[in-house]
Amino acid sequence: MTSAMEFLNRTRLELGPAADQTTHPWRRAEADGIVWLVLDCEASPVNTVTEDVLTGLDAALRDLAGSPPRGVVIRSAKAGGFAAGADIDSFDRISGQGAVELLEQGHAVLDRLASLPCPTIAIIHGAALGAGFEIALACDHRIAIDGAKFAFPEVNLGLHPGLGGTFRLTGLIDPIEAMTLMLTGKSAHTEKAKKLGVVDVVTRERHVRAAVEAIIDGKVDPSVKGLKSRALALHKARSLAATRMRAETGKKAPSAHFPAPYALIDLWEAHGGDRNAMQKAEIASFARLLDSETSRNLRRVFFLQQGLKQAGRGDDGIAHVHVIGAGEMGAGIAAWAAIRGKRVTLADLEPKALARAIRQAAQICRDSHLGGIETRDALDRLMPDPKGYGCARADLVIEAVPEDAALKARIHREAAGRMRKDAILATNTSSLSLTELARAVPDPALFAGLHFFNPVARMQLVEVIGHASTAPEVMDRLAAFCGAIDRLPALLHDYPGFLVNRALVSYLMEAMVLMDEGVPKEVIDRAALDFGMPMGPVTLADQVGLDICLDVAESLKLALKKPIPEISPRLRKKVKAGETGKKAGRGFYDWSDGTPRPETAQTGPEDLQDRLFLPILDACMECLRKGIARDADQVDGAMIFATGFAPFRGGPMRYANTRGINEIRHRLDELADRHGERFRPDPGWSE
Ligand code: NAD
Repeated sequence: MTSAMEFLNRTRLELGPAADQTTHPWRRAEADGIVWLVLDCEASPVNTVTEDVLTGLDAALRDLAGSPPRGVVIRSAKAGGFAAGADIDSFDRISGQGAVELLEQGHAVLDRLASLPCPTIAIIHGAALGAGFEIALACDHRIAIDGAKFAFPEVNLGLHPGLGGTFRLTGLIDPIEAMTLMLTGKSAHTEKAKKLGVVDVVTRERHVRAAVEAIIDGKVDPSVKGLKSRALALHKARSLAATRMRAETGKKAPSAHFPAPYALIDLWEAHGGDRNAMQKAEIASFARLLDSETSRNLRRVFFLQQGLKQAGRGDDGIAHVHVIGAGEMGAGIAAWAAIRGKRVTLADLEPKALARAIRQAAQICRDSHLGGIETRDALDRLMPDPKGYGCARADLVIEAVPEDAALKARIHREAAGRMRKDAILATNTSSLSLTELARAVPDPALFAGLHFFNPVARMQLVEVIGHASTAPEVMDRLAAFCGAIDRLPALLHDYPGFLVNRALVSYLMEAMVLMDEGVPKEVIDRAALDFGMPMGPVTLADQVGLDICLDVAESLKLALKKPIPEISPRLRKKVKAGETGKKAGRGFYDWSDGTPRPETAQTGPEDLQDRLFLPILDACMECLRKGIARDADQVDGAMIFATGFAPFRGGPMRYANTRGINEIRHRLDELADRHGERFRPDPGWSE
């Protein structure tokens, strides 16, 4: 895409600071009686809507009020997009009445923009998110450049739009579509945005000037609201629609944990169609949500993600990846790396596995909404390599053969014999000791673990595991590799199960002990869902594969000093019978009709949730005390992005802090006295 700056240069718009301000991020140009206000936040590749942005816009608009031009155009100078939303950092500094006042000031600025007596046009390239979208909505018209997208991701932060989005979007397009966008946080890409009526014109960069002129000359018809919008102006019709929305939202986000979508539905149901009432209610509701525990924790998750991303910055120096083993994991890793721009060779003994891997890669391209050319390029970069020739040329070799220490050691030795002397060798093992495996490789400094989660295309976290001799630059390059392929690296030290599987093994095995005690699997899974997990432990075990669970549990039982729950005889029986979970069509659940839904009216023992979740907290504490993980933030980020650990709780360590460290320690002691030494608290809780 032509960058916005190039466009501005081509049209020879002279950008200067707005008249009475030199510090704010708006630059101004004027041509043919049209004023261009161009947002260009300093020292950042993207625009965020800060207080400075709003006060700067206010100053620029006040300047115009005296002698309005033919039209005002708002756009961004950043090549990357229009604006990425509000400055989330600032949310922590405002609360209560202070938040209401700040929001009212922001609303006044956008109201001023909306009421300018001349046509106002927002030009959007790239993303217009949250408050950025709200600025665009305050204009009379929107021109989208091919590839633009619009979204209100506030719901992911435990909020809803707070700068006028709730009444401007529901006032502009079909309110049900507007609410769906706000309730799901999903993006509307150019075509959809046009169809919905969010944008008036979709065009190429080179036609923007002509489109602006056409709008100002009244040659573009404004979108007309349909019958449905008029019907939903009636409270009764909105109430019916709101009831359906609550039911739909409830399937994914229970109100006890996620108040924001329900607050949004309430405010639309009560005030939809009444712009002023909705504006007032939006401000009050947004300020309340800002102070909620859920929003604080979800905003923290955003920063945890930034923290993990930070570790993935830098140059990986990796252009060619060779993957050995094209099974479940190797195929996923190879496809994902190719999609994200790496040249990939993929080796397997089985030609069938290679063919399946290529089909799977095409499916991942479809699931990731890649265009035809992007898909072709990605598949061109992914080369089946049955003889493993790519090994000799690769910058990074990733081994993903079955979890068998002797097999892996042999493959590592063979690969090392063929690899370039400076290439990195990584293993995707989920539970074998890196320290042991390192003994088989000629240069342990260039050897590390790169533990992806299944499915690779969806799970953002990758554990990058070093052993005592891994060179620090190798860890950095592997982290940068994760960053380059858009995954989040957690740099960890070697430990049985590393961090995530160490924590999960106790959780999954405890669920099976509970089943042995007679607690129905649905009750166990329901308890975990109620806690906020994306799925219960029994469903998760089935999904991971009961054979893999058994392998990991057996290997960690031997390797860990701390006792983990006894391995359930029913797990062994299932594996022996070939009922290994989802992949076999049957495990603890029957998967023949799709993902099971654990419905039950029964309740479990009083300590059920604590028996499942406190061992996760305790394992995380063990990893922190032993220096396996860097700090509590890394642990929380890793557990959320690898397991979906109830994000509104902010991660296991945040949850422990919220409940109180002493309370956790006492409760673990109580559980240990009642159920066994596996619950005895880690010494880290006392330190
Ligand atoms: P898999 O059985 O699906 O695939 C292994 C592939 O390796 C097979 O296609 C097999 O033909 C191939 N292979 C075996 N010997 C080979 C050789 N000498 N040369 C080339 N290819 C060979 O296994 P998987 O589930 O993909 O697991 C691979 C690794 O990833 C294991 O270490 C496992 O612990 C780890 N892991 C698995 C998961 C998971 O959910 N499956 C998650 C994280 C990590």
